[in-house]
Amino acid sequence: MPGIFVLGTIENGIPSRSTLELLTGAQRLAGGLQEGVSVGLLGPGDAASLYRYGVEAVYRANHPLLKEYQADLYLLALQRIAQTAGARVLLLSGDSLGRDLAARLAFRLKAGIVTDVIEIDIEGSEKMPRFTRPAYGGKAAAVIIPKRFPVVVTLKPRTLDPAAPAGKPKGKEIPVEISLDLAQARTRMVERVQEETTGVKLEDARAVVSGGRGLGGPEGFTLLVQLARVLKGAVGASRAATDAGWVPSSMQVGQTGKTVSPDLYIAVGISGATQHVAGISGAKTIVAINADPEAPIFKVAHLGIVGDYKAILPPLIAKCRELMGS
Ligand SMILES: Cc1cc2nc3c(=O)[nH]c(=O)nc-3n(C[C@H](O)[C@H](O)[C@H](O)COP(=O)(O)OP(=O)(O)OC[C@H]3O[C@@H](n4cnc5c(N)ncnc54)[C@H](O)[C@@H]3O)c2cc1C
Repeated sequence: MPGIFVLGTIENGIPSRSTLELLTGAQRLAGGLQEGVSVGLLGPGDAASLYRYGVEAVYRANHPLLKEYQADLYLLALQRIAQTAGARVLLLSGDSLGRDLAARLAFRLKAGIVTDVIEIDIEGSEKMPRFTRPAYGGKAAAVIIPKRFPVVVTLKPRTLDPAAPAGKPKGKEIPVEISLDLAQARTRMVERVQEETTGVKLEDARAVVSGGRGLGGPEGFTLLVQLARVLKGAVGASRAATDAGWVPSSMQVGQTGKTVSPDLYIAVGISGATQHVAGISGAKTIVAINADPEAPIFKVAHLGIVGDYKAILPPLIAKCRELMGS
């Protein structure tokens, strides 16, 4: 039985980006531990494309009650397929769903858990998995080597590259019988509110313009939206800005928000707390606009502009428009 297990999702007929990132970690472990890779799917979705990534088996639990996410029911199904798969290392994305399920799953399986992992490899001599995660708000890295299996792991999105196809596809699908009942669900969905998103997704954007407390209020984001539009990018925010309710929490970048890895990251009115910087370490060029020349953000920025953003952004937007021909 393949011992490396990935909780996967299929989007528009292909593995989601987070699934491919998990498969990168899975491929590394599989090589070192001499184990196979399996994927668990909850609900429908064509599994065929997964086999191109060295996946030996897809364990699927299909049930009408898995159509909408409900933690108790998902957990029951996930526990069942993970046990059927004989999983020793269980990799989940560190997105909101993975974070919701991982600790409960570890408890149910009597497994260890390592969360927020940013690097996965194999420890040399003993051939054990080695997981790296940020510690002290990103100031240090902790390396964790589990002493026993099973172990549940959440991988911070956008920290590993998506897997490349590996070898000839040769996997098979194994349906897992599951009986679920609404009585097993301790919560129920009362309303689903679809957040309006336009343009490019924050995690996929090649340019991100983020705003912080220094903007002074929600209206400050109007200029950021204009700049992001010219750069064909997306707008992000610091936790101070999302906590203040100026913009939705889905825009938060950082340790407890999204990890972004754009070509260009512009931080406007953001001081550069380690928890914010933890989410932008993959950015190729960081530009900081801040009124305080001593702001820590200038220590990580490649380019810095000291001054009031209200004075700096309008001419910057005009110049970018001119250069981009828009
Ligand atoms: C467990 C934990 C997790 C956290 N996770 C996150 C996270 O994921 N993401 C995150 O962002 N934070 C996170 N935080 C919060 C983090 O520690 C900081 O409090 C937060 O990032 C500060 O946001 P800020 O930089 O917008 O605000 P501030 O630190 O208040 O900085 C505002 C900046 O704006 C500048 N400024 C003021 N006026 C202007 C102006 N007119 N023009 C230009 N610049 C101006 C100031 O000089 C200052 O540098 C976390 C904290 C904890 C404890």
